Amino acid sequence: MIHSRESCEPVSAPVEIPTLPGFDMNLPSGLEGLGELAYNLWWSWSPRAGQLFGRIDSSAWARYRNPIPVLRGTDAGRWAELTADEDFMVDASRLLDEFHRYLDNGSDSWYRRAVSSDSERELPAPVAYFCAEFGLHESMQIYSGGLGILAGDHCKSASDAALPFVAVGLLYRHGYFRQQIDADGHQEHNQPYLDPPNLPLRRARGKDGSALRVSVDFPGRTVRAAVWVAQVGRVPLLLLDTDIATNDAADRPITEILYVRGREMRLCQEIILGIGGVRALRALGIQPGVWHLNEGHSAFLLLERARELVARDPSRPIRDALAEVGRNAVFTIHTPVPAGNEVFERGLMLKNLAPWFSETACDPDELLELGRGNTDEPRAPFDMTAFVLRQAADANAVSQLHALTATETWQGVAGHPIMAITNGVHVASWLGRPLRRLYERAIGLSLASDLPGPEPVSHVGKVGDADLWGAHRQQKRELIGFAERRLARQFARHGESPDVLRQVQGQLDLNAMTIGFARRFATYKRADLIFHDERRLAALLSNPERPVQVVLAGKAHPADRPGQQVIQRIFTLSRSDLLRGRVFILEDYDMRVARFLVGGVDIWLNNPRRPLEASGTSGIKAAINGVPSVSILDGWWDEGFNGRNGWAIGGREPLGEDEAQDEADAAELYRLLEEEIIPRFFEREADGFPRAWLDTMRAAAEASLWQFSTARMLHEYVDRLYLPAVRERVSVA
Ligand SMILES: *Cc1c(COP(=O)(O)O)cnc(C)c1O
Repeated sequence: MIHSRESCEPVSAPVEIPTLPGFDMNLPSGLEGLGELAYNLWWSWSPRAGQLFGRIDSSAWARYRNPIPVLRGTDAGRWAELTADEDFMVDASRLLDEFHRYLDNGSDSWYRRAVSSDSERELPAPVAYFCAEFGLHESMQIYSGGLGILAGDHCKSASDAALPFVAVGLLYRHGYFRQQIDADGHQEHNQPYLDPPNLPLRRARGKDGSALRVSVDFPGRTVRAAVWVAQVGRVPLLLLDTDIATNDAADRPITEILYVRGREMRLCQEIILGIGGVRALRALGIQPGVWHLNEGHSAFLLLERARELVARDPSRPIRDALAEVGRNAVFTIHTPVPAGNEVFERGLMLKNLAPWFSETACDPDELLELGRGNTDEPRAPFDMTAFVLRQAADANAVSQLHALTATETWQGVAGHPIMAITNGVHVASWLGRPLRRLYERAIGLSLASDLPGPEPVSHVGKVGDADLWGAHRQQKRELIGFAERRLARQFARHGESPDVLRQVQGQLDLNAMTIGFARRFATYKRADLIFHDERRLAALLSNPERPVQVVLAGKAHPADRPGQQVIQRIFTLSRSDLLRGRVFILEDYDMRVARFLVGGVDIWLNNPRRPLEASGTSGIKAAINGVPSVSILDGWWDEGFNGRNGWAIGGREPLGEDEAQDEADAAELYRLLEEEIIPRFFEREADGFPRAWLDTMRAAAEASLWQFSTARMLHEYVDRLYLPAVRERVSVA
């Protein structure tokens, strides 16, 4: 409970975290507000903010895509020019007004509206949301894939809805790797160093006014963690960081590497996340009413909360305390196969959690039994997913189909069915600017605060042909410009001649139907399925009347050799006589590349091996931009496909072995492209517009803008997980 608030405010207003000041940027009078804005990631989903930062220093903005180094690097002379520029000052003050309106005006948010019409929907205390990665913006690479992007979008929507919400994660100095592809198609990875003073991070302030530190006991030593705050609109995200001078040199790198490979190091990392995360919240006086574990990495938060209960009442058995803290804990599972789950060998658990075992007088076998996976093996490792499924009050999977598979997989463990809350995307973060303007103008869909509900979205069908085609072509032009710049850099690095570099300009064809495919190159995603029959593909791409091109991007995990081989195969094909100039592979897939692709291609291809894609969200990002999918009926598409908004590759029955499945899926993909998709794309009405295609685009947007938004998703989390968990709360703080 937050007691110190004015009585007119609801009990559970947005969470505020006291911080030490950020960098002093010496901003001129009238523009001080830009400093506050730079420290709030709201700027990342405000279309105007990026434009304004670019006007301050376009080359610094292009280089960092992060306002903090831009503002820090601007000198007095440049500020004098800007403050004398009336247009700039008017635009800056408009932007700052918009920012302050967003932060102030919670009364119009979904949460306040829902609560004011039904007080039963009020959360008595905030939601604490734990995740190992957060994808908020490409300038803060503490994410690696779909899980992190979803967590970031969840926070942004919680902010839009003014939900009392605080997120907890880790600050990795080495996060998402950068990818280059060399002239032979080999993936090269390098790890940029994330430097906190250059990121929108401020230190949380402890009760004594100095930078907050939390301590976590490890065998024979105490490890301390600094606590950074990244402000995401109204939502604070706490990031723990063990890289501080008072730690032993051997403990400082615990939080250095995202998904570190060493198993013991990973365990230490997750102890910091779970146990340290709870301690950070407590030190800041936050007593959550619901604990949301987004994937199993943060499972140890349950251990810390149980320890707290036992410390208060030493007569209480630990098993009982663990059961109690589970009552207001909820869990989201993201992996469809047990192999994707986090497990730790018993010896590592006994060693690293020794302080916890002794403090709680817990018999280690008792805890390890609670973490038994789907196995009877006597000395089975501790399975984080199994542990949380047993302990948490409720659990959800991330699509309808995934809920069925997960319920079946975890039958013996969960004790209850795993419900479905299908993933969504934060529309303001993923909608291209031209379409955003069009939706605002044509159907009054405002993204300035919260997606208001399904109503305005149902009018997308009324957006006119010329407007929709025009906005889409604009986004496609932006993608082509971006892709050609990236390719030119890659070709130059490979030592191509000036003539070849000159030809890169104009390589991509605005009038060609453009197929997009971008994701992690995990092998189950089958990035090379479309290359199954190279000649058939070449024929399909090079029809001069109906030109088609393919743009791909994606990283393979540095340890995933088969994934890297797929990249190499596609790269080689993209340079072959057969496919050159028709197939393009872009380097360094990240949120920025994703934004260009999902907004600018004509059709989104998704062909995982069913049912291994728990949800997938890139197809949703494309759909809100009016880009239909051609996809296997897996993840979100299994429920999202309605016959009008794109195409389904194959059916729902498996066809035996992987090779047979690949063969059949590839054949069906070619057939769909040849007989349905390409003809529809190139069919023009007398007025020159592809009306049938535009209908498919409208159907794609209409079916996704609300139904697959994180706004709809968040409302479901509140109503189906958070509120029921709060009601379960007995004496648990
Ligand atoms: C959206 C996104 C993902 C997740 O997309 P999938 O469809 O789940 O593959 C991964 N990485 C980035 C950079 C993204 O933007």
